[in-house]
Amino acid sequence: MWQHTLARPFLVRGIGLHTGSPASVQVDPAPVGSGRVFVVSGVEIPALLDAVVDTRLATTLGNGRARITMVEHLLAAMHAAGVDNARIAVDGPEVPVLDGSARVWVAALHNAGLRAQAGLRRPVTIRRALRVENGDAWAELVPASAFEVDVTVDFPHPHIGRQSWSGPVTGHHFHQLAGARTFGFRADAERLWASGLARGASLENTVVYDDAGVLNPEGLRGHDEAVRHKALDAVGDAALLGAPIFGRLRAYKAGHELHRRLFEASRAG
Ligand SMILES: [Zn+2]
Repeated sequence: MWQHTLARPFLVRGIGLHTGSPASVQVDPAPVGSGRVFVVSGVEIPALLDAVVDTRLATTLGNGRARITMVEHLLAAMHAAGVDNARIAVDGPEVPVLDGSARVWVAALHNAGLRAQAGLRRPVTIRRALRVENGDAWAELVPASAFEVDVTVDFPHPHIGRQSWSGPVTGHHFHQLAGARTFGFRADAERLWASGLARGASLENTVVYDDAGVLNPEGLRGHDEAVRHKALDAVGDAALLGAPIFGRLRAYKAGHELHRRLFEASRAG
């Protein structure tokens, strides 16, 4: 259970989902015990629950006036790969969306390789069940011998409906989630665009459902891509505990805010 950082640095470029602006991410190895830390305009923002400032459209972290949003797919890939310590310098307000999934991050981390460090991990072990609710949505953490998720979505849409996915999500198991893309509904996209949001969203990085089906010409990456993306997001939110987790996250119609409340509760005991 040694801590790990990257063996080599890497750079990824893309555009931001919300701003549509070009952004680049330079990921460097970091000292033992330093954790995963974003650096935005020279300001360090630790990728931890305490730094969460907004969870509405994506998970946004902040420190003072510095902000970084859309951190969840990169953090999910790092958490699953076992990268404990990394310096993540971003040259814009958001992590690039890339293809809407974690696939590019998984490949970049694989190419960079991992290096063991002279310090032990301090895992979070879930010893009793915890639950948070919001309306009919809920999220629970229960004891388990590894980090696992068990996620259910239920959208009143003929191409999604009720979907569930469960399983372990660290190491090679994460590949089942890594390629699942961000998704949305056409009516919501039009509303977001009218509000000046989601400017970078396109069929290159978002699965868009309309009444008839899926607008993306290439179709879905599997019939259950929607729930697999929600599971990917859940792993990214779990990464904000900043430690390996021994426990199972069960979630029904949950999102970033319920996950944040649940992991916050887990720290209280
Ligand atoms: Zn996502």
